[in-house]
Amino acid sequence: MRSIYKNYIGGRWIAAASGETFENRNPADQRDLIGLFPDSAAEDIDAAARAARRALSSWRLIPAPKRGEIIFKAGEILKRRKEEIARAMTREMGKILKETRGDVQEGIDTAFYAGGEGRRLFGETTPAELPDKFAMSVRAPVGVCGLITPWNFPLAIPTWKLFPALLCGNTVILKPAEDTPHTAVLFFEVLEEAGVPTGVVNLVHGAGEIAGAALVNHPEVKLISFTGSSEVGREIAASCGKNLKRVALEMGGKNAQIVLEDADLDLAVEGALWGAFGTTGQRCTATSRLIVHRDVKQRVTDALVARAEKIVVGSGLDESTEMGPLIHEAAREKVHGYVKIGKDEGARLLTGGSLYEEEKWINGWFYRPTIFDGVAPSMRIAQEEIFGPVLSIIEVKNFEEAIEVLNGTRYGLSSSIYTRDVARAFRSMRDIEAGITYINGPTIGAEVHLPFGGVKDTGNGHREAGTTVYDIFTEWKSVYVDYSGKLQKAQIDNAE
Ligand code: ADP
Repeated sequence: MRSIYKNYIGGRWIAAASGETFENRNPADQRDLIGLFPDSAAEDIDAAARAARRALSSWRLIPAPKRGEIIFKAGEILKRRKEEIARAMTREMGKILKETRGDVQEGIDTAFYAGGEGRRLFGETTPAELPDKFAMSVRAPVGVCGLITPWNFPLAIPTWKLFPALLCGNTVILKPAEDTPHTAVLFFEVLEEAGVPTGVVNLVHGAGEIAGAALVNHPEVKLISFTGSSEVGREIAASCGKNLKRVALEMGGKNAQIVLEDADLDLAVEGALWGAFGTTGQRCTATSRLIVHRDVKQRVTDALVARAEKIVVGSGLDESTEMGPLIHEAAREKVHGYVKIGKDEGARLLTGGSLYEEEKWINGWFYRPTIFDGVAPSMRIAQEEIFGPVLSIIEVKNFEEAIEVLNGTRYGLSSSIYTRDVARAFRSMRDIEAGITYINGPTIGAEVHLPFGGVKDTGNGHREAGTTVYDIFTEWKSVYVDYSGKLQKAQIDNAE
């Protein structure tokens, strides 16, 4: 029997108004149909927006610590259901179980962090410039928030947005990626069980250009928080700009790891492998460029190629698998297209660069771990986001050139440097143009209580996670209480 899943609007599980559905299949085995999901359109978004608007008036008045308790409970339910959700996520989007367990754990961490923040949603108190006057700033919810998320972290990214949004007193509509609707359904089951009141959270599945665009353009939706490609992010920002709608964007990366000549090379190789091939290279923080000092380049390259060729590729549901498939056929075509571009540009293909022909892989979107050498910083494979298991090695002569090459792309999300030299480590912290820098660690591995985001074309100045996400989901209000009993004029009465 085919499983048919629903939207969650105003506390009810319902089909798209049109009755249309779309299929969701396992990227490791296309014969495996996970289920049918509502192919929603503007009218479904409208129903969700009305439900969210209705719920806002009571939700915003519930004290933040109480809202935090509900979020905390959701964290406990996620903990209980961790293994089941991780398995569903691997089946739906391919990354290995170790990583999907980590994805759920990130949701749990975010729930507990946001839950605690209910008692710490600080504003400021400050002296007033006039006598018998009190001044403070407080945070207020923004209103109905639209959350648009990608498929590569199907639970973690929705939780990054949804828990802080709720904690701040907003109500939300989540439009998850078309490739990972099942994880979103499981997440909403958790929210329902945790006792989130009717209409506070709403889930609408569907295509980005239809359901996603309707969410962006709905007048009742006051904020859009988006994670995805730079192309789509730009479009969303333009629409929000026209309507003066608040928009927070997390977009692409072209992250690099630097390996200097004094580095612990074994550690650097280990880090590069995890950074480049973890999640099959499909993280916005994935390592896609390895910038290596010429004195150690050959040793690093040899070790990397030997290790990459031993990576066990297969279904992520098999515990022995180290790398799963790509998300869909178009992603694999894109990766393979970039391999051809790299070869045409004159880069040297050291390993990979092809699909698997054998029976074991034939039903999924698998691709070999791929490494290019002899890559010039200006080549397209060193500039454009490939979002797959492709690592480009760039040789440099010194630290200064390494930093220049690292900074020489339009993106600025994550970065890494391996060195034992404290001075160069600190210089890189200062001079690298990125939102995240790791010293002696790979480009992936963000923790939920630090700001997450990037500079240049990666973002538009906001930071998720950490305490900074609470600036995205609140409006500041300054409050003055004058108890002098007379009209006092700021900047005028105290001028002399
Ligand atoms: P990815 O490359 O990770 O699939 P996308 O930017 O294409 O990134 O998609 C990220 C999210 O944005 C998905 O939920 C997708 O449905 C949604 N999306 C895509 N196009 C639009 C659009 N024009 N308006 C709003 N949302 C969109």
